[in-house]
Amino acid sequence: MIPRVRIAHLPTPVEALPRLSAVLGGPRLLVKRDDQTGVAFGGNKTRKLEYVIAEAQANGAKTLVTMGGIQSNHCRQTAALARRFGFDCILVLNGQEPEMPSGNLLVDHLFGAEIVWTKRPERNQTFERTFEQAWEAGRRPYKIPLGASNATGALGYVEAMDELVNQGVEADWIIVPSSSCGTLSGMLLGAKLKGFKGKILAVSIDVPVDEMRETTAAMASEASTRFGEKITFRPEEVLVNADYLGAGYAVMGESEKEAIELFAQAEGMLLGPVYTGRAAGGMIDLIRKKFFKPDETVLFWHTGGTPELFADPYAAQLLGKRPLGPAAGQETRK
Ligand SMILES: *Cc1c(COP(=O)(O)O)cnc(C)c1O
Repeated sequence: MIPRVRIAHLPTPVEALPRLSAVLGGPRLLVKRDDQTGVAFGGNKTRKLEYVIAEAQANGAKTLVTMGGIQSNHCRQTAALARRFGFDCILVLNGQEPEMPSGNLLVDHLFGAEIVWTKRPERNQTFERTFEQAWEAGRRPYKIPLGASNATGALGYVEAMDELVNQGVEADWIIVPSSSCGTLSGMLLGAKLKGFKGKILAVSIDVPVDEMRETTAAMASEASTRFGEKITFRPEEVLVNADYLGAGYAVMGESEKEAIELFAQAEGMLLGPVYTGRAAGGMIDLIRKKFFKPDETVLFWHTGGTPELFADPYAAQLLGKRPLGPAAGQETRK
């Protein structure tokens, strides 16, 4: 038995998106609701952290140390689970500390996470230094990598594929946002181990195709050793589309905005601007380009990130466009 703490609300539901499908004139659309994993607004990191936190416990750790961007969903879920399992939590965040925290950052504060601010190019260095200082202070720190993405975290998505297959869901395609590759690696390995027949297409959020393929193949191969014999994944087996990087990580453009509005107004479902909005924007574009056959079933894996919506810059940008009432925030924020 691979050590795992149990906290996520599983299985997450699979729902149909008939109205979105009709609006787009597209294939049958399904969604896997990993935005509903149940801990502090949910998201894909909860599944990975179930395995990573069990490892931290086995190591006798007292403090979880991790890193991410200012609106990191991973950091928010780590901060929540740290409290739930009795750890201190230090988050190394790159960005400009705002006067008034909003979105995920507000929630990090509510969990009492200690925040160390850094700049993106210095993030790894600050992370290492923060870990060393916590170690010297006797706080028994445990390093959780970016996105909880390593062979251990990926196990959460091996399990998730098992869950999907056991739900009796058949899909020709899974569309999933990918960045630090732990989710994708676990899904590829899970698909192979459980005999899932469909194709898994990652929409890259911020990483070039070749790099994502190599990272994912290596992580999936390493994770496979936990189940016995090593399965070697080749980079060419990993399907990645990096056409939707827009103006960079966490920059919301027209594609993300349109996807958020379409999901909201066709299905009453929320996406986040950074990950799920970008991946759904890519999926919508692919549907319009007739990438999928009309009789295929496409499952959008909703990895969460909805608290990003409440981060001030996105909220203002979203209100500025939609006729949802007076866009009051727009002028006052200049
Ligand atoms: C972290 C994250 C992803 C990407 O998952 P990786 O395992 O890092 O590739 C996708 N969606 C959301 C909402 C995330 O927070």
